[in-house]
Amino acid sequence: ATPMAIMVGTGLGAMNGILFKNAAALENATKLTVVVFDKTGTLTLGQPDVVEMVPASGVTETQLLGTAAAVEKFSEHPLALAVLKRAGPDIAETASAFTNIDGQGARAQIGDEVVLLGNRKLMEAERIDLSELAAEAARLQGGGRTVVHVARAGRLIGLIAIADAVRPTSKATIAKLQERGVKVAMITGDNQATAIRIGKELGIDIVLADVLPGQKASKIKELQAQGHKVGMVGDGINDAPALTQADVGFAIGAGTDVAMESAQVVLMKSDPFDVVGAIELSRATLHKMH
Ligand code: ADP
Ligand code: MG
Repeated sequence: ATPMAIMVGTGLGAMNGILFKNAAALENATKLTVVVFDKTGTLTLGQPDVVEMVPASGVTETQLLGTAAAVEKFSEHPLALAVLKRAGPDIAETASAFTNIDGQGARAQIGDEVVLLGNRKLMEAERIDLSELAAEAARLQGGGRTVVHVARAGRLIGLIAIADAVRPTSKATIAKLQERGVKVAMITGDNQATAIRIGKELGIDIVLADVLPGQKASKIKELQAQGHKVGMVGDGINDAPALTQADVGFAIGAGTDVAMESAQVVLMKSDPFDVVGAIELSRATLHKMH
């Protein structure tokens, strides 16, 4: 494409809230064979809410929520915000010695009792018996909920089910990309069952679940090794290395600064459908206007 065509293309993009940082991004966008979407905050709104609580026997909902909230007070994870929103301002107990366990959950202490909060992997690693509520967890995850397991003093005290609504345009985005001959993948740290359910709902071709934050970039590399030209769309700090690794990284405008710095294209309206617009614009610029 001529410099003039590139200027017109990036200018048209900017007017529509699609910021190409350089000509290479516009050119590479024409070649994408797969687009990988982060789940939380990209395909979903990233504003999760607690939708159900399942206390273990002998435990009240108040005890379950109170324990979780005392710990989540120290976390900045979106799931923590959902728990705190549900708990309200009055949290009876105070936690200490908080540590974040990347991609799995958190650990803290209330008095001399250890509290663990997070996914099944974390509970299994800590040898917490999950059998009492395993069927409930499966039911919730099968319904697309993210399940936060809460253990205290070595015992599972309950499950907190969290839902995050998909963005209104996510499904149409995926259908349109597929119509244009582009495969669609979803990548998430969330568990397999929840991810598969949401993937089905949205018509995703490839679901990559249980991916630790440090592994997202290597999943992109694997797709590239298979011969794919990979687009990656994300919003989080944990998406940054994957956005850099991708042939074209797209950042959700409402996401973190780190994501926007790592991406070559910024979607100012935070609308995943603008990925379709970006690809169409790049194709029009490079194929028709030279
Ligand atoms: P995502 O890729 O969906 O943003 P993360 O990698 O941040 O997910 O987290 C993966 C999983 O780890 C979550 O789905 C959740 O089960 C668990 N987890 C992480 N942090 C927390 C937390 N603060 N409270 C509860 N669960 C957590
Ligand atoms: Mg995210």
